[in-house]
Amino acid sequence: MDFTLSNEQRAWQMTARKFAEEEIRPISLERDDIDDPRAAFDWQIIKKGSKLGFRTMAVPKEWGGHGTDFVTQALVMAELAKGDSAISKTFSQCWKWSHLIAATCSEEQKRRFLKPFLEDDTFLLGKGISEPSAGSDNRLPPEDPKAGLKLKAERHGEEWILNGEKCFIANASVGKLFFIDARTDPNAPLRQGTTMFLVPHDTPGLRIGKVFNKSGWRFYQNGEMIFENARVPHANVVGPVNGSDMKTHAAGDRTGGDLFGDLELAANALGVCDDACVMALTLARTKTQAGRALFEQQLIQLKLN
Ligand SMILES: Cc1cc2nc3c(=O)[nH]c(=O)nc-3n(C[C@H](O)[C@H](O)[C@H](O)COP(=O)(O)OP(=O)(O)OC[C@H]3O[C@@H](n4cnc5c(N)ncnc54)[C@H](O)[C@@H]3O)c2cc1C
Repeated sequence: MDFTLSNEQRAWQMTARKFAEEEIRPISLERDDIDDPRAAFDWQIIKKGSKLGFRTMAVPKEWGGHGTDFVTQALVMAELAKGDSAISKTFSQCWKWSHLIAATCSEEQKRRFLKPFLEDDTFLLGKGISEPSAGSDNRLPPEDPKAGLKLKAERHGEEWILNGEKCFIANASVGKLFFIDARTDPNAPLRQGTTMFLVPHDTPGLRIGKVFNKSGWRFYQNGEMIFENARVPHANVVGPVNGSDMKTHAAGDRTGGDLFGDLELAANALGVCDDACVMALTLARTKTQAGRALFEQQLIQLKLN
């Protein structure tokens, strides 16, 4: 098998490396030191990265995006993560969900949502599945209808009324559009009673609650989304009613954008590890201890080997 990167892949990798080194790394620690996670977010870095294509790189070319493949996305993810793994995740949320729009939405929905997404450097995406008492249950759903997410949607004419709460949702406080899984048949098991909706952030009846504080990933906005009689048009239903296949934010569907959920986490960790090794090697080569370079100490050699 030939693992040689194409010129295009190499170009994306180099652009991401330069951006991580020159733009992300200088702000990373200072952002993470801010106690309030909402204040840790920085639109400037998102706008700069967006202009280089890091927000829209997964949108197919026929819809005006860059149409990058999964290998390119993993390469970019690893490079951005070397600068800051939370900032890279903020961008990659957009890859997964713009890919999902392109793969599963109707032509009319694509026109309505992909166009503004492509045009606006501050248009971020997210997906809400988890709830305060429904996390793992959504991934391996038991047949019991009582298990799994509870946020419910009821149809009233051409609108759906959503009530309930999501939590830990990435980009919750900064996103402009979310895929939301809601229970539309409470008597059916999760997979047969759930519908997926596209929900814009300014939907009446939707508000953002707290943004969860995390150590090391403060920039990444995992927040609560609270639905109180939130009104979503029927035109925003994705796929058939009761037909959400429960694509999760991390795993799930093996053919659509969610495949990248697993890849992105691995690529993110790879970038962090890669950079940690480089930093450790640099220190070992430059710092002297007991009259010798750290690198010359056998214990250090064994650790870094
Ligand atoms: C950084 C981050 C980003 C996230 N982003 C999103 C997002 O964008 N959108 C979204 O919808 N969600 C998101 N989540 C939520 C994530 O999907 C859930 O945290 C995950 O599904 C686990 O659910 P939970 O936290 O409720 O834990 P629980 O499901 O309560 O699990 C707690 C513990 O119990 C164990 N456990 C659970 N069930 C069983 C069982 N049946 N048998 C044995 N052990 C069990 C688990 O392994 C775990 O150790 C995010 C979470 C994090 C940390």
